[in-house]
Amino acid sequence: MTRKKILVTGGSGFVGSHLCDRLLQEGHEVFCLDNFFTGQKQNIVHLLSNPYFELIRHDVTEPFFIEADEIYNLACPASPVHYQYNAIKTMKTSVMGAINMLGLAKRIKAKILQASTSEVYGDPKVHPQAEDYWGHVNPIGERSCYDEGKRSAETLFVNYHKQNQVKIKIIRIFNTYGPRMHPNDGRVVSNFIVQALQNKDITVYGEGDQTRSFQYVDDLVEGMIRMMASPDSFTGPVNIGNPNEFTIRELAERVIALTGSRSKIIKLPLPSDDPMMRQPDISLAKKELDWSPKTQLDEGLMKTIEYFRSVI
Ligand code: NAD
Ligand code: UDP
Repeated sequence: MTRKKILVTGGSGFVGSHLCDRLLQEGHEVFCLDNFFTGQKQNIVHLLSNPYFELIRHDVTEPFFIEADEIYNLACPASPVHYQYNAIKTMKTSVMGAINMLGLAKRIKAKILQASTSEVYGDPKVHPQAEDYWGHVNPIGERSCYDEGKRSAETLFVNYHKQNQVKIKIIRIFNTYGPRMHPNDGRVVSNFIVQALQNKDITVYGEGDQTRSFQYVDDLVEGMIRMMASPDSFTGPVNIGNPNEFTIRELAERVIALTGSRSKIIKLPLPSDDPMMRQPDISLAKKELDWSPKTQLDEGLMKTIEYFRSVI
């Protein structure tokens, strides 16, 4: 095989670090770019002695030049707590980050994949969500810096492709969990597991009737690799997620059962614009990428629980 040079932005984050592992295992050379806003050195420390791995501290809102064959653009905080901390910066990261990475891809003729999100569907009125649904997003709400930033990034990708023939790939990632999420990440799976392991109250927001479909990180990485390797004519967007849908209350109960915790479930106010339901239609990924998720919730939760036991 030929050893490719691959740039991963957001490479020290939760998903990015798993992607770096996989690309190195496949024999490629990996440039991991990160500003360490939500990423952790801990996630990639085991890679630092690998001569085919290079860590670059850089912010994607600033231009960056390197020679690479492929770019995976993951840089962006993904947890509502962190992306709302500095909403303007979040939008800059998505929009200016996309412009800078697309400009680089155009100049060096690299193929570029964008980590988009199910959040482009907002609080969906169509269920499950297929790629041809345009979404229901509040442009001025708490979540809009993330949702609209990612939507703008998709627009930029599509237009760099049309105007400048850049080879693009867009995946829409649905809620993903697994080892290396930050204990203070703030997303639901890590929150519940950390709370359960410490026998603290499990914080369900609202009544817990809202649903999400949870994907284990290894399945996502497989989907990303397959998407990058697919024919140039297939640009996406394509949903990558696990269609098994659970209420947040069910998730809390599973986590309590699997950890054997003494935690109790408490209810806290539901954040504004919190989507009521979310489930991917993955027909397109099955057809074009021959991809479907392999790890179901209990198995994935057990691996994630083991990880959090070792770090907290
Ligand atoms: P994460 O917060 O763990 O990782 C994001 C990484 O990007 C971090 O390492 C962070 O330091 C880095 N980063 C943030 N802003 C940056 C900037 N301006 N310049 C350089 N680096 C920057 O989140 P994650 O779950 O690993 O998500 C990775 C990508 O996948 C994100 O783009 C996210 O929007 C997307 N995504 C994730 C999920 C999910 O459920 N995990 C769902 C949909 C989309
Ligand atoms: N949530 C919750 N308790 C928490 C964290 C999140 O009940 O401690 C809920 C949140 O309100 C949302 C769902 O879990 O309905 C998923 O939240 P997360 O932040 O993980 O992702 P997103 O809302 O972006 O899908």
